[in-house]
Amino acid sequence: MWQQYLDDNHDRFFEEYLDLVRIPSISSLPEHMADVEKAAEWTATRLTAAGIENVEIMPTGGHPVVYGDWLHAGDDKPTLLIYAHFDVQPADPYELWDTPPFEPTIRDGRVYARGASDDKGGLVTPIFAVEALLQTTKKLPINIKFCLEGQEEIGSPQLPPFMAEHKEKFACDLVASADGLQWSETEPMLVVALKGLCAVEISVRGPKGDLHSGLHGGVIQNPLEALANIIASFRTTDGKIAVEGFFDEVVELTAEDREKIAAVPFDGPAYKDQLGVTDFYGEPDYTTRERNWARPTLEINGMWGGFQGDGTKTVLPSEAHAKVTCRLVANQDPHQIEQLLIDHIKKHAPVGVTVDVRAGRGVAYPFLMDSDHPANQIAAEVLTELYGQSPYFVRVGGSVPVIPMFQKELGADTINFGWTVGDENLHAPNEFFRLANFKRGMRGYCMLFERLATADLGNK
Ligand SMILES: [Zn+2]
Repeated sequence: MWQQYLDDNHDRFFEEYLDLVRIPSISSLPEHMADVEKAAEWTATRLTAAGIENVEIMPTGGHPVVYGDWLHAGDDKPTLLIYAHFDVQPADPYELWDTPPFEPTIRDGRVYARGASDDKGGLVTPIFAVEALLQTTKKLPINIKFCLEGQEEIGSPQLPPFMAEHKEKFACDLVASADGLQWSETEPMLVVALKGLCAVEISVRGPKGDLHSGLHGGVIQNPLEALANIIASFRTTDGKIAVEGFFDEVVELTAEDREKIAAVPFDGPAYKDQLGVTDFYGEPDYTTRERNWARPTLEINGMWGGFQGDGTKTVLPSEAHAKVTCRLVANQDPHQIEQLLIDHIKKHAPVGVTVDVRAGRGVAYPFLMDSDHPANQIAAEVLTELYGQSPYFVRVGGSVPVIPMFQKELGADTINFGWTVGDENLHAPNEFFRLANFKRGMRGYCMLFERLATADLGNK
C-alpha cells in the first residue's frame, strides 16, 4: 500500500525536497542565520503535514532543533528517534560550481546543489515515509520521534547540553541517523564503531633565552632534544603505543570482529598509492584496516622550536613545543587517556628543563555497537533487500560526536540509515545526490519502521 503511495506521490515529494534544498541554510555564516531558521520552519511544517504531532522548533542557544513525535503504536512497540540535520556547509568557492549551489539542477539522474546529499536528501526520506504509512494505514508500526538539528556542520556545539536538559522528551530505544553514508552506489554498509578523541599540548622550557651554542654548549639540556626524547617514549620501536595504561579499557577485537573487517574490500597497494607512501606502519599484530578502524592511535600533529630560517644559526633554543592527539576506541575515556598522557610526559621529563602539559581542545567519546544488535540485524535485512547485497559492517577512524552523545545522554545506540555516498562531493563544489537513492531511502524507512515493530530492543 505504502509502495503505491510513494510511487503516486514521488514527483510531489521530489519537488518539496528541492524547495528545502533551495534554502541556503549555511550554519557557519552569520548572514545566513535567517536561512537556517527558515529551513527549521520548513522542516517543522513538513513534519506536521506528514502527520507528526507535537512539532516544535526548540531553541538551543544557537541554531534550533526541530522536534516532533507520533507515539500511538503502543507501549509494547519500540520508540525510534530519527536524527538528521537541515543546515549545510558554505558553498564557496562559487566559481567552481557548474550550476549555482542553491538552484538545484538535475543532470544524469543526480541533483546538483549544496546540501542535496548532506543532509537534506537524508532528512526528507523518513518524513515522506511517515506520510506514506499514515496516509495508507492510518498508523505507524512503531513510536517515532524526530531530532532534526541546524548546527551539525559547525560541530553541534549546543546539542550536548540541550540533550542533557531534554532527556525525557527524546527518550527512545534506538536512534536512526539519516545523516549517514553507504559504501557505494551499489553496496550498503552499517557503521558499528566511531573513534573518540583527546588532545594534549606540551611545552618544554630550558634557559631564559636562546643561547650561543659555543659559549654555553655542552652544559645544559637542549629543550628540543628533551621534547624529542619525550615524544620518542610514546611508542616502542616496533610501533606499539607505550603510554602506561593506554590499552587497559580497550575492547579487544574478537575473531568474528576481525572476520567482519576483513570482509570489507581493501586494496593495500592502491591505498599506498593514494597516500603516496612506500610502506604502512603501525601497531604490530593488526592489519592495516584494523589499526585504522579498530585500534587507538597517537599522533604528533606539530612540533616546533628553535631556529628555522635559511642557513645556520648556532643557537641553543630556550623552548620547544608539540601538539598531540589520540583517536580512541571503546571503552577508552578521553579524559582518562588525557591524564595518562600527562602522567607519562611528566614521568619522562628529562632533568634540566621544565615540562608543562595541558589538555588541548577537542574531546569526543568513542562509539561501539554490537553488529549482532537486533537493530543492526533488521537494518541489515532492509539494506540487503534494497541493494541486493548484504551490508559491510564498517568502523570509522573519525569521530561523529552526536552518536556517542545519544549513547551517553539517552542510553540508545544509533544505526546508520542514510543514503549519501562518499563520492558525492560533500562539503565541496558540485555536491550531488542520486535520484535512485531518494526513492530507495523512502522505501528503506517504510521497511525499517515495519520490521522494527517486531524487534526486541529491550523496550518490552
Ligand atoms: Zn551531514
